[in-house]
Amino acid sequence: MTTTPLVTRKKIKSEFAGSGCLIQAVGLILLFVFPIGTIIGIPLLIYGGISANKLVCKNCGNPVTKAAKICPVCHARFEKGRFGR
Ligand SMILES: [Zn+2]
Repeated sequence: MTTTPLVTRKKIKSEFAGSGCLIQAVGLILLFVFPIGTIIGIPLLIYGGISANKLVCKNCGNPVTKAAKICPVCHARFEKGRFGR
C-alpha cells in the first residue's frame, strides 16, 4: 500500500453536437406536435440540457457521474470543490 492515490478533478464537458443536444432538438420539435408532444418535449429539453453538460474525469476523460468520488476507469480520486491542492 505504498502507491499514492491519484487525485484529479471533474471537468465539465459541454457537448454541442452530442446526444444531449440531439435530445434537446427532438424535444424542441415535439413541443410543436400536439399537446402530447408538448408534454414529452419539456422533460426532453430538461434532460437534454443536463446531459449536454457532462462531467468527465480530468485524468482520463471518462464520463463520470456527479456523485462519483472515484473514477471507475483510472481510479483517480476526485477532489471536492476548489479546496485543497
Ligand atoms: Zn479517470
